[in-house]
Amino acid sequence: MGKLTIEFNKPFMTGKELSNIAEAHIKGMLAGDGDFTQKCHVWLESYTGASKALLTNSCTAALEMSAILLNIQPGDEVITATFTYVATAEVIALLKLKPVLVDVLEDSFLIDPEAIRKAITPKTKAIVPVHLFGQTANMDEINKIAKEHNLFVIEDTAQAIGSDYTFEDGTTAKSGTIGDVGCTSFFPSKNLGCYGDGGAMFTNDDELAKKIRMVANHGQTVRYYHDEVGVNSRLDSIQAAILRKKLPHLDRYNSSRRSAAEFYNDAFKDSPKLITPITESNSTHVFHQYTLQLVGVERDAIISFLNERGIPAMIYYPVALHMQKAYKDDRYSEGHFPVTERLVKSVISLPMHSELDNEDLEYISNSVLEYLKN
Ligand SMILES: *Cc1c(COP(=O)(O)O)cnc(C)c1O
Repeated sequence: MGKLTIEFNKPFMTGKELSNIAEAHIKGMLAGDGDFTQKCHVWLESYTGASKALLTNSCTAALEMSAILLNIQPGDEVITATFTYVATAEVIALLKLKPVLVDVLEDSFLIDPEAIRKAITPKTKAIVPVHLFGQTANMDEINKIAKEHNLFVIEDTAQAIGSDYTFEDGTTAKSGTIGDVGCTSFFPSKNLGCYGDGGAMFTNDDELAKKIRMVANHGQTVRYYHDEVGVNSRLDSIQAAILRKKLPHLDRYNSSRRSAAEFYNDAFKDSPKLITPITESNSTHVFHQYTLQLVGVERDAIISFLNERGIPAMIYYPVALHMQKAYKDDRYSEGHFPVTERLVKSVISLPMHSELDNEDLEYISNSVLEYLKN
């Protein structure tokens, strides 16, 4: 048995980030503005096609700003998936908005548009679809529902930057540019990361675009004149300097993740004990996670078997939001969201990053198959 260490997630580096950091330092660009920041904005706008992009210090901060910009008020209901990372619901709850959780689709792990429709009340103000694990949720349906009920759509694309969505009419758009606002993350473990926290938000709405930079910078356009209540969600220039080097590699980086996923899919295609992740026909997949569903396999046992062979495996996510202590609510109890409740017990994520070579992938998939034989 060959491999000594396989990393679950390995941040991709160009090797040239440090020279940009030095330049930011020499030029005294330490606050959240300057050349690198502007260049990242221009790059992101041209890459995504959004009319406005803004770097933020996290996706969580971008989500918070979205709710402020859209003037969503305490008590307003915001619909999101119960099968997601906590940040999505956290922001909603912190702003005293009411998170309304809905189930996901079993084959894609993505928010179920029919469930959204059923959860709408007169108090609903927004939908936050999460483009979970790397592909874009059904935005044709979600935008249709939003239009019918006059709701805002805030996309959480922390896991799917670079994913292309194809609308029913054949046109395409990047994930994060399809709703009113899109939010993404450059946390080190995401598909493209800073040397710490980072994020961005996107919009195509001219009114929002006008306000977006002001709100992120304490509500001021002229220093010390505050026209709006704002926040500090600026990204440091040092982080922008790193992003400036890394962003141009995003597509190449996502495509090596896709190749790794194809390798796994092929290796597992004949195993009745594994359900491989599907790629929806209306979205490309950037495989933030490669997530399998186990069929009749004891999850803890396969994880320890893999760990003993130096292969990390993770569970995203072991507990649904509606079962978390902090998000308990009289409206839901165990059994309320059957798909998510099945998934939290059956999913397993395998190592996924751009640096996995064929030898790694073979070793990992052979180890999984070896366990399943017994
Ligand atoms: C990571 C993540 C976030 C939070 O991103 P931060 O930049 O760490 O705030 C939000 N939503 C989803 C789906 C995530 O995976």
